[in-house]
This record gives sequence, C-alpha cells and structure tokens, in this order.
Amino acid sequence: MTNDPNQKAMIRDAMQAIASRKPGRSKLVYDKTKRTIVAVAEGAQVTKALNITADDADMFGVVTLSSEWLRANWPNLERAGSLPTTFSSWDDGDALTHSELCVQKSPQTVSGTVFLEKPSGPETDLGIGLEPAPNGRSGPGKFLSTDGVAYIGRVTDGSSSLYHGSDVVFADVEPQLDTRRAGILETTILKDKTVLCIGLGTGGAHVAVELAKCGVGRFLLVDRDRLSVGNVVRHPGAISQVGRFKVNVMRDLILEKNPSAKVEVHRVAVSFDNRDVVAEFIGASDLVICGTDNRQSKLLINELCVSANVTAVYGGAFRRAYGGQILRVKPKHSPCHQCFVAAMPDEASDVEISSGDDAAEIAYSDQPVAVEPGLSLDVLPIANMLAKLALLELLADKSSPLNGLKRDFDAPWYLWLNRPEPGTQYADLPPLSESSDEMTINRWYGIYFDRDEACPVCGDFVGGLAASYGLDLSSLPPLPVKE
Ligand SMILES: [Zn+2]
Repeated sequence: MTNDPNQKAMIRDAMQAIASRKPGRSKLVYDKTKRTIVAVAEGAQVTKALNITADDADMFGVVTLSSEWLRANWPNLERAGSLPTTFSSWDDGDALTHSELCVQKSPQTVSGTVFLEKPSGPETDLGIGLEPAPNGRSGPGKFLSTDGVAYIGRVTDGSSSLYHGSDVVFADVEPQLDTRRAGILETTILKDKTVLCIGLGTGGAHVAVELAKCGVGRFLLVDRDRLSVGNVVRHPGAISQVGRFKVNVMRDLILEKNPSAKVEVHRVAVSFDNRDVVAEFIGASDLVICGTDNRQSKLLINELCVSANVTAVYGGAFRRAYGGQILRVKPKHSPCHQCFVAAMPDEASDVEISSGDDAAEIAYSDQPVAVEPGLSLDVLPIANMLAKLALLELLADKSSPLNGLKRDFDAPWYLWLNRPEPGTQYADLPPLSESSDEMTINRWYGIYFDRDEACPVCGDFVGGLAASYGLDLSSLPPLPVKE
C-alpha cells in the first residue's frame, strides 16, 4: 500500500464509496507497475488494472445506533445539541454496537457522542453527526425523528479512521422484528401474553427461546438449577454461562431475542411445600410450559393448573432421547396429566434419565455416559412441537392465520420417536422409507385417549369411587369443603 498521505486519503474515500454502494467518482485499481493500489478518477484508462469490488471493500467497520434510544432522548438532543453514550466494541473494533442494544455487553466499550451541532471540547472515541437526509424522505437506513424529519448519521470523528465518514446503521428493533413476523403471527396478541416456564432444562429452555422469537411479551421462569458444563451440549446456554442459575441465563437469552419482553425469574423448586407460591405463578399466567422431569412436580402442576383453569403443556424426552412426548391439558376439555398417568402408567414413566443409575449406555455410542445422554438433535423436535402447540394455545381465543392448524393439532397426546430403541415396544419399527401405514421414526403421532371420569383431579372422584363400590351417596350430608 502507498505511503503517500494524499493517495491514502483517496483510497479510503474510494473504498468507503464502494462499501456503501454509492456512485462515486473514483475507483480503486491495482497498478502493476507501481505495485500498489491507487485511486483513479472513474472513466480513466488504466490498462491491466485490478478492479476492487464492493465485496472487497467490506473491510470497514459498522456502527449501529438504537432508534428507540434516539427517539426517547430526542428532546434532550435538541436542547443540548449533543448526547454522550457508549458502544460495545466487538471483533477488535470491527463492529461498534450501541450499548442500549446489548443485553450482554462486550468486554471493551467505546464512549461516543451523538450530535446535531458538533460540541466543542475534547473529542470522544466516536462522534456521530446527524444531518437531515438529502432528499428529506424517510426510508431504510434513516432515522425518523419525532418531528417527522428523516436523518442520516455519519461518523465524523474518532480515534480510528476505520469508521471515519461511514454511515451509521439505525436499529429500530421492535418494528424490525415485528415486520419479519407480520402476516404469520399476531404479535400484538402475543405481546400481552404471559407464559410460565417451569423447568428450564434443554426442552423447556428451547421452548422459551422459540416463544421469545415469536414475540411473546411476558415470561415467568421457574427453575432452581445452575447451568453445568455437561448441560452445554444440549442446552441453549453456553460455556461462558456455566455456574449461573438457568433462570438468569434464559432471561438473558430471551431478551437477546425479544428485548421488549418482561421476564421474571424465580429460583424455586416445584414441590408440595411451596404449592402456594407455584399456584400464584400459575394464576398470573395464560399458559404453563412444564419441562420438569419428575412425576411429583408434574402432578402438582397439573392439579394447580386444572384448579386455576389454565392450559398446561407437558413435554419430555424418553430415556437417552430415543423419543419423546407432549401432553396438552385444557381443563374441562381434555384429559389431565393425572388421567394420563392412570390410563398409561408405562408411557408416563418412560421419561428422561435424571440419575446416573439408569444411564448404562448411550445411543449412537458404545461409551458409557453418566446422565441424560440424549442428543440435542433428538430433543429439539420435541421442543419445537411443544413451542408450536404453545403458540396455538396463546392465539386460540383470537383470530389468527395459525388457527387453521387447530384442526390438525386436536389430540391431547403427541408422540415422537427418534430411533427404534432396543428393549422398547418400538424396537422393530420399519425403516422410514418402507413404511406407508405403519408407525415409524421421525413422524409425529397425535393420539386420543379418554378422560378418566373418576379422576381425582379433573373428574368426579367420589362419585366414581361410590359407583365402583356400589354405594349410594345421595343420603349422606355434603363433604366438608377445605377453606
Ligand atoms: Zn384428570
């Protein structure tokens, strides 16, 4: 590269014009005789020169500013002429992202000043000048102020020439995310919905992230565990989060996907000792996602949800994730979890391994593995389906294009098999390619079963008991009601 400062400035200007796809008056060529890149006027004859394309010129860093922050601070900016702020510096300064956009900030930050009138005094690391857009029209890449004027942003000064003169990218997060979901999801409905996620293992955590991407506005997260290294192979939480409570890890991941979400975290276990606390969470929710892996907690949640008339969706992987199942309980309209356990005790108990005693071998490997040796790949189909069912429930009472799916997702129980697991009733499933009407792997099955009329949770338990013993209870006084 040339050492001539004028040539350097010309090259930089030409590269920036190319990078921003502007019709420039200069272009870069490689001069073979001088063995250097030079900037020349467009149209000039340079024989055997190597043209630098726009893709080559993407070496300039990107500065991103939050439109929402700018709107909120616009009156202050107009009054003071300039506002200080900070940026996360990523990739050795290649990307400067407004701290207002960052749930998790970079280790290094850069101070900056956004101004309408250039402030006097010492320069900050980064100066961003806002100026009215040339044609006055709003559009992509422009910021529309509260008084209806479209602005462009330009890096005017800073310690690094990497950005000097670059256009600033305005990130208007919520409208830009809504645009991507529009026509498929009623984001305005989902913003007002509260989802209670109990159990944030791999399945529950994935469901929470998917619902955040869809635009669900409020989450209550309940789990008492910390993220361990072993979790990372399947859980959305990463190595840098190890040791943190899963509720906090998931709160941050949800906010990374939907920054306007409200997320409450509760580090509590679900047990009969704190049933009042759990009942309170359920009472404040539109839908409950249950990803706990033990029957006691599921049955407690079932009892409280049926009593509060809140729909709950239960998901779980079978041992070593050879498959999994989902149970959706709509109180008064479908069998409850207690009915499920009574009707199919084997299916209800074949859940994910959570103790080392059960985990003698792993699928896809001959190595002994300690606990929960299922693959993330095998858990995700179940989590994905659970998220879809949850979405349908959240949209159920409103008109939505997705409501057409209600007819297809009508069954209370859903079954998925990842492989024909030896030692199970699914050991002899035919290959996927040969089966047309038999059960096989990698297909969802929606299965109906009857509600237990004498279910102690959702049915007439006393009546059922009396009938089975041939008793007539009509002459007895009413049972005392617990206050
Ligand atoms: Zn029941």
